[in-house]
Order: sequence, then structure tokens, then C-alpha cells
Amino acid sequence: KILVASVCVCFLAVKWTAPAFDAESLRGARVLVTGASSGIGEQMAYHYARFGAKIVITARREKVLEQVVEKCRTLGAQVALYVAADMSSESEPQKVVDFALEKLGGLDYLVVNHIGLTRVGMWDGNVQHIRWLMQANFFSYVQMAWRALDSLERNKGSLIIVSSVAGGLATIPFVAPYIATKHALNGFFGSLYHELSMKKSNVSITICTLGLIDTQTAMVNVGHLTSIPAYPATDAALNIITAGATRQPELYYPWFTFLVNIMKDWSTTATDYVLQNSFKEIP
Ligand code: NDP
Repeated sequence: KILVASVCVCFLAVKWTAPAFDAESLRGARVLVTGASSGIGEQMAYHYARFGAKIVITARREKVLEQVVEKCRTLGAQVALYVAADMSSESEPQKVVDFALEKLGGLDYLVVNHIGLTRVGMWDGNVQHIRWLMQANFFSYVQMAWRALDSLERNKGSLIIVSSVAGGLATIPFVAPYIATKHALNGFFGSLYHELSMKKSNVSITICTLGLIDTQTAMVNVGHLTSIPAYPATDAALNIITAGATRQPELYYPWFTFLVNIMKDWSTTATDYVLQNSFKEIP
């Protein structure tokens, strides 16, 4: 109990000492958000629009992107454009960054958030699917980050990586390929964070650890399987934007994902118990 209490105190201390978020800092900011046709990415697009940012959004479904862009314009975005792209392709991630760099004249924020669709259930031995998902959920993130890095460096910009409680120490059953891609993200961008800090780069990296969020994808695929509470996508989106704008290295949303991530260090048995018992059935 003492240990849990001290961890909570540390967490709150870090949160309270974080610099205050200044919404004005996002007025005119040049932002690229991926996976923005639905879910958390769509909500991020609306928040950035309300803050008066210049945004480029991307995903595969052109018609839906068109509608999101239209709404962003009415909400106050200084610029709102879309580019349709499939991140499971090896060439499209760079093209998306090039589009944003050209249309916006540079980037202040790259928010990488998309995920490819994966089955929920016992692993079925499909290695080809893991390769495909690695391109969609991991390699594309790395490709986009590299392409945007010079511009972010010049503009004292930020790279925001949307990951999951499944990307840190925690592992979760029935979505093994997805978990693998999120662990890869945390490992890669966690290392890059050190490299950039050590060379005193202008670029900040924010790795976002999210718990269950009430997007349609999450609710349809895992909502009925688990008793874990789902948090609102619009609030998750705002927390991601705030953490990026205040250049926080990490975001934990909701707060208890912090606890879950460090719990495994204390007791594997307790973590296993909690994780395995949060599922109502085996899909
Ligand atoms: P959604 O499924 O709602 O959105 C995914 C987005 O990615 C959509 O815009 C989709 O658009 C796009 N996308 C899917 N496949 C591709 C592809 N091959 N190429 C390009 N874009 C693609 O996801 P969420 O909003 O729920 O999740 C967003 C992020 O939050 C993810 O990184 C996820 O891992 C993370 N997260 C979510 C949690 C949750 O409970 N919701 C929990 C923990 C982390 P389109 O179909 O048009 O391409």
C-alpha cells in the first residue's frame, strides 16, 4: 500500500510540475495527424482545429477524410487538408510527410496515431499478418519520423507517438501482433528520445500510453470482452495534444495506466492475475 501510495504521489508531482498548457501556442501551428478519419485521431483533428492550427490529416478513406476536413474548417482551423494513404505500403508514409511539408511549409507537430486492423483472438500462427502489421503500425511511424525530423528540428517541433499501455512493460492477451508493434514503437522511440536529448536536439518526443478508449474500433473489438472501463476519445485526444504542446516525454491516460506499466516490476504474478482476469471470456 505504501509503495502504491508513493508511486501515485510521484505521478501527481510530475503532473503538477509540468508546464502549463498555453492554447495560444497552437494557433497557426503546422500539424500532421495520422489515422484521423475516425477515433482518437479524428478528435485530435477537431481539437487542433479549435485551437486555430494548420492541419493535414491522413488515413485511407478519402470520403471520410473530406468530411473531417470540412468540420475542421468550420471549427476554426487556419488550414485543413487531407491526403489519403495506406500506411501498410512501404512508399506512402514518406509521401504523406512530403505532402504536409509542401502544403504547410514545414511541420511543428507530427502526431503518429494510425493502426492497421488486426483480429482479436488466440494467435493463429499467421506470421505474414505480423509482417504486414509491423509495416502499418511500426515501420510507417519510423519512416514518417525520419522524413519530418529536419523540419521539426528547424522549428523546435514535436513528435507525438500514440502508443498503448500494451507498449510498455504490460502485455495483453488476444492481440499479440498488435502488442508486438506497440512494444516496437516504445522501444524505438524511447531510444530515439535519449539520442535527441543527448545531442540537445530541438525536437521533443512524447510517447503516449493509453488505456481503453471508447472509440468504435475498440468498443466493437474488445469492449464486450473486458471489464476495464473505457475513457472518452475526445478527452484522450486533448490529453495527447496537451502533452505534446508542453513537450512532456510521456503521457499516461487514464492515470492508472502508469500504475499498470510499472506493476510488472513489483510482481509478475499480480500483474498476470489482473490482466488475465480483466477478460470475461476467451475470444
Ligand atoms: P481507430 O480504429 O478508431 O482509428 C484508426 C485510424 O487509422 C483510422 O483513421 C483509420 O482510417 C486509420 N487506418 C487504419 N488502417 C490504416 C492504414 N493501413 N493506413 C493508414 N491509416 C489507417 O483507432 P483508435 O482511435 O481507437 O486508436 C488510435 C490510436 O490509439 C492507435 O495507435 C491505438 O493503438 C491507440 N490506442 C487506442 C486504444 C483504444 O482503446 N481505442 C487503447 C490504447 C491505444 P481508415 O480506415 O480510413 O484508413
